[in-house]
Amino acid sequence: MRTLVTGGAGFIGSHLCRRLLAEGHEVICLDNLFTGSRANILELMDNHRFEFLRHDITEPLLVEVDWIFNLACPASPIHYQVNPVKTVKTSVMGAINMLGLAKRVRARILHASTSEVYGDPSVHPQPESYWGHVNPIGPRSCYDEGKRVAETLMFDYHRQNKVDVRVIRIFNTYGPRMAQNDGRVVSNFILQALKGEDITLYGDGSQTRSFQYVDDLLEGMLRMIQRDGFHGPVNLGNPEEFTMRELAEQVVALTGSRSAIVQRELPQDDPRQRKPDISLARRELGWEPRIPLSQGLPRTVEWFRQVLAGEES
Ligand code: NAD
Ligand code: UDP
Repeated sequence: MRTLVTGGAGFIGSHLCRRLLAEGHEVICLDNLFTGSRANILELMDNHRFEFLRHDITEPLLVEVDWIFNLACPASPIHYQVNPVKTVKTSVMGAINMLGLAKRVRARILHASTSEVYGDPSVHPQPESYWGHVNPIGPRSCYDEGKRVAETLMFDYHRQNKVDVRVIRIFNTYGPRMAQNDGRVVSNFILQALKGEDITLYGDGSQTRSFQYVDDLLEGMLRMIQRDGFHGPVNLGNPEEFTMRELAEQVVALTGSRSAIVQRELPQDDPRQRKPDISLARRELGWEPRIPLSQGLPRTVEWFRQVLAGEES
C-alpha cells in the first residue's frame, strides 16, 4: 500500500506515519511545515519506505497512492487564527485538491474533521446527527466553517464522483509531540507546571473538554479507513469529560509543581462543553478508547520533561 499523509509532520500526522510504516506501508508525508516540524519526522527519514514532500495542499498535486489521510490544517486556535484566510483555503482548497487527486488515482480518502463542527453545542454529548451551533463570523469560524465545508465537499465528491471517502470528527487529542508553542490546554498546562510558571486557566475553568490519547485515535483512524461501505461522519474521542479546572489540578498533582492556577480572560466563542457520543464508532468500527487521562497524562508529562531536559543540556 502507498499512503499519502497530508499534515504528516504535525502532531497526529507524525504518529500516523510511524504507525503506517510499522504496518508495512510506503508513506508519503506531505507538509508545508507551518505548524509541523522536521524534528517530528527526523528519525523516519532513513526509512526507505518513507518520503517527505514539502508542499502546500492549497496547490494541486499528482502522486500515485492507494490511501490518502487528509490532516493538513493548523489545529490550535492560536495557529489557525494567525492567518484565517489561509486556514479557510487550507481546509477548502486543500480538500478540493485532495479529492481531485483521490478521484483521479482512485484512492480512498479519509478526512480529519473535528468536534468543532458542533461549535458551542446545545446538545450534550454530541452525536453525529447533531448539526451544530457554530458562529459563522467569529474568530473560530475560519477553522469551524472551513472544516464544515470540507465535510460538504467529501460527501458531494462521493455522491457526484463516487470518490471513496471517510470522514472522522476528532475530539481534543493529546500526547507526545504536541507542539510546545501550540497554546492548547494540555501542552500549556504541562509546560507551565514543569517550568514552575502560573497555570493559565481561561474563564472560571468550568468549561469542559474530553481528552483522547493519540494512540486511541490512530486505532480508530485505521479501523475507519479499512472499513468498507461506511463513510461516516463518525466521532472519534474519549467520552471522559473534565472541567479545565480539574485538568489544571490533575497536572499540578502529577508534576508535583508549585505553580499557582491563575484565571485569564475566556476567549470569544470558547465552547462551554464538549463530549463525544461514540455509539456509532462502537457499533460500526468496534472501537472505543482504551487509555484514560490517568494513563495518558503521565506519559505526556514524561515526554515534555524529556524535551525540556534536552533543551537545558
Ligand atoms: P498540527 O498543527 O500539529 O498538524 C497539522 C499539520 O498540517 C502541520 O504539520 C502543518 O504544518 C500542516 N499544514 C498546515 N497547513 C498546511 C497546508 N496548507 N499545506 C500542507 N500542510 C499544512 O495539528 P494536529 O493536532 O496534528 O491536527 C491534525 C489534523 O487533525 C488537523 O486537520 C486538525 O484539524 C485535526 N484535528 C485535530 C485535533 C486535536 O485535538 N489535535 C482535534 C480535531 C481535529
Ligand atoms: N484553555 C485554558 N488555558 C490555556 C489554554 C486553553 O484554560 O492555557 C482552555 C480553553 O479556553 C478551552 C480549553 O482549555 O476552554 C481547550 O482549549 P484548546 O485550545 O486546547 O482546545 P479547543 O478550545 O479547540 O477545544
